[in-house]
Amino acid sequence: MASKWESDEEIQYFREYLRIPSVHPNPDYEPCLDFLKRQAKQLELPLEVYYPANEQNPVVVLTWEGLEPELPSILLNSHMDVVPVFPENWTHPPFGADIDEEGRIFARGTQDMKCVGMQYLAALRALKRNGARFKRTIHISFVADEEMGGRHGMRPFVHTEDFRKLNVGFGMDEGLASPSEEFPVFYAERSVWRVYFHISGTAGHGSLLLPNTAGEKLNYIVGKMMGFRKLQVQRLQNNPELVIGDVTTINLTRVDGGVQSNVVPPLLTVCFDCRLALDVDHQEFEANLHKWCDDVGGGIEITYEQKQPRVLPTAIDDSNPFWLAFKEATDELGLSIKPEIFTGGTDSRYIRQVGIPALGFSPMNNTPVLLHDHDEFITADTYLRGVQIYQKIISNVANV
Ligand SMILES: [Zn+2]
Repeated sequence: MASKWESDEEIQYFREYLRIPSVHPNPDYEPCLDFLKRQAKQLELPLEVYYPANEQNPVVVLTWEGLEPELPSILLNSHMDVVPVFPENWTHPPFGADIDEEGRIFARGTQDMKCVGMQYLAALRALKRNGARFKRTIHISFVADEEMGGRHGMRPFVHTEDFRKLNVGFGMDEGLASPSEEFPVFYAERSVWRVYFHISGTAGHGSLLLPNTAGEKLNYIVGKMMGFRKLQVQRLQNNPELVIGDVTTINLTRVDGGVQSNVVPPLLTVCFDCRLALDVDHQEFEANLHKWCDDVGGGIEITYEQKQPRVLPTAIDDSNPFWLAFKEATDELGLSIKPEIFTGGTDSRYIRQVGIPALGFSPMNNTPVLLHDHDEFITADTYLRGVQIYQKIISNVANV
């Protein structure tokens, strides 16, 4: 049975790409580059390699020129890197790309997101073979470092002259698998803030009742942050329409400090992972943090490990012709689409940040969500169906 899929040309390319261990913490992208260069040659498409951050982190771009190349282009983005594996927890080798009897292909990257990168190329191969041409130029980019927040990939790339020359008018990037029939489409992301409170207070002996201790202030700050958190939990509970991406999440992630168990310490540090929903006024949120510090007597310094700006969502209405073209394609294919705000972070946010509309979409329904998990897989049939879905979507958005 598996041989049916093994002999499929696109499944063979996909498995070859999956076998490249471009895995953190030290991904080597050279084998990806070699592979993509062979793909570009096979597809007869020009390929450029850019280095927006350093030599270790390439951005590869294949280009299919449109009939009206002066029009803003379509960017089909994917990342080459994958997250680490714990092979002892896998039933198949994580870079083996085994196919089982049911057609499930096991490997790191089958969902996140080597599938999507190869599906773009597979779709273009099929379209080219059918003699298709489109109005707009299509760029297919393969970036590094997404799993580390895009520091050496998309984040600097969007600010380069090379990127500006691509003249991108609309971008597509990763979404998520869906265990149901529905396909989520992501049009926005929350802003990640990692907030540290460095709390100073009166130090001294543990046998006294000194005023203004760091512990009392810590208690106050934690109480305020947890109060905010509770409101968000209630919002979610009271409105079944809302999903996690619609609300602000706050979690206490680190507490540091103390000298020894009978000493009141001069400094305690607490860190919160905050994901600010789209309805949050950033200035107001920050002002609140400072107000709470003042209210409890000051002596608290706030620092940020990350503080992402507010990025406007991509319009999913008549004002965005690319959305209409996307929606028309999925409607025609009879797919059930659910627009959502992404819970985590992807490279889409950097594309949106420079004013380009972008959608996150991975055509994997009826598939358990296994990104970053053990035994990550996609079925060969789901993969090949996704190639057909992209053919329709790409044809539509490239002809806007
Ligand atoms: Zn990803």
